Amino acid sequence: MLDLTSIPVVDNHCHPVLLQQHMDALHFRGYCTEATDPVFAQMHVPNTVYYLWLLRQMATFYGCSNNESDILAARNQLSADTLLEHLFHAANIDTLVFDPAYPLGSECYTPERMGQLGHCRTTKMLRLETLMQELILEHDGFDDVIDLFASRVRQAQAQGYCALKSIVAYRTGLQITEWSKDEAAASFAEARTEARTKRQLRIAHKPLIDYLLHIAFKLAAEQQLAVQFHTGYGDSDTDMRLGNPLQLREMLERKDYYTMPVVLLHESYPYCQLGAYLAAIYPHVYFDLSYMIPFVDRQEMLAFTRQSLGIAPASKLMYSSDGIHIPEMHWVGALRGRSVIGQVLDEMIDANEIDEDQAYDIAQQILHDTAYSVYKL
Ligand SMILES: [Zn+2]
Repeated sequence: MLDLTSIPVVDNHCHPVLLQQHMDALHFRGYCTEATDPVFAQMHVPNTVYYLWLLRQMATFYGCSNNESDILAARNQLSADTLLEHLFHAANIDTLVFDPAYPLGSECYTPERMGQLGHCRTTKMLRLETLMQELILEHDGFDDVIDLFASRVRQAQAQGYCALKSIVAYRTGLQITEWSKDEAAASFAEARTEARTKRQLRIAHKPLIDYLLHIAFKLAAEQQLAVQFHTGYGDSDTDMRLGNPLQLREMLERKDYYTMPVVLLHESYPYCQLGAYLAAIYPHVYFDLSYMIPFVDRQEMLAFTRQSLGIAPASKLMYSSDGIHIPEMHWVGALRGRSVIGQVLDEMIDANEIDEDQAYDIAQQILHDTAYSVYKL
C-alpha cells in the first residue's frame, strides 16, 4: 500500500469552525447532512454509512467506545481550542484555504486563529455574491455598485485573498450569460427594492449576478486570479439541474478568460465525469476533489477519484475537505483523502498503468502541489 501520510495537504476549499463546540447529538448530527429538514438529524443521519464511519474514527481518536453518546461526551470534555489543535495537528495540514463568508464570522474562529492552533498556514477567498449583496444593501446607484464591486475585486490579492469564489450555481445557475447594462440595471432595481423593503437581500437576480460576475472574471483574468465555482452537490435549496458544470460552456469558451484558473468544487458530484472531462479539455479548468462534503461513503469516493484520475491530469486535480462548523471534518477529510487516493493509485499500479514513483508524484500533486501553483501559495 502506498503510504501518503507524510504528504502535508493543502485543503483548497474549507470553511471556518464554530467557536462553540460543546454540543448534543442532534446538534452535532445537524452538521453532518446537507438536508435541512430536522427529520434527518433526528432519524436518518445515524443510519447513514458515512456518519457511522465518522463516529468510528472519532471513537479511536478520543479513546472511547463507538457509541455516539460516549463519543460526544468525550469530545465535550475538551475545549474548542484543544479540539482544533489536536485534530488539525493529526491531519498534517500545510495550508487551509478558507471561504470565511459562511458560517457567520461572529460565530466562528478567524482563519488566523485556526492557523495558529493548527500550526498551518491559512489564506482565504472572496465570495462574490456576498460582496454583491453587501454593496446592494448599502448603495442606491447601480454605477456606484459596479465601481465599488470592481475596486474590491481589483484589490482582492492585496487584501490577502488568494482566489475568488462564486455560488451562482445555488442562485441562478452556472449558465452565466451576457446581458446588456440596461437589462442588468433593471435587475438591480428589483434587487435594490428588495434590499430596501426587507433590509436584507438574498441575491437571485440573474441579469444582475451574471453582469457583475463578468466584471469579476475580466479582472480575475487580468490578475491570473483563480475563481472557485460551487458545482453539483450543495445547499439543500440547490436546483441541481443548474449546477451541472457543462452549463459553464459559454464562459469557458471565452479565450480572454483563459488566464483565470477556474476551479470546479465538490468534484461536481454527481456530475464527476463531466467536471473531470472539462479539466481535461480546457487549459484553465481545475477539479476539486472533496473528501468530507459531499457526504458520501468510501465506495463513492473511490468511484469519483478513479473517474477523475482516469480522465484528468493530476496537475489539474486538488484535494479539499470542504470542512465546516466542526474541526473533525478538516481532520477526517485529510485522512480519508490520502487513504482513498492511495488505494486508487495502488489499483493503477496493479493494472500496470503507472509505477510506484509516478504514483507518489501524482499524490503529491493532488494533495499539495497543484494548489500551490493555482493559488500562487
Ligand atoms: Zn464550501
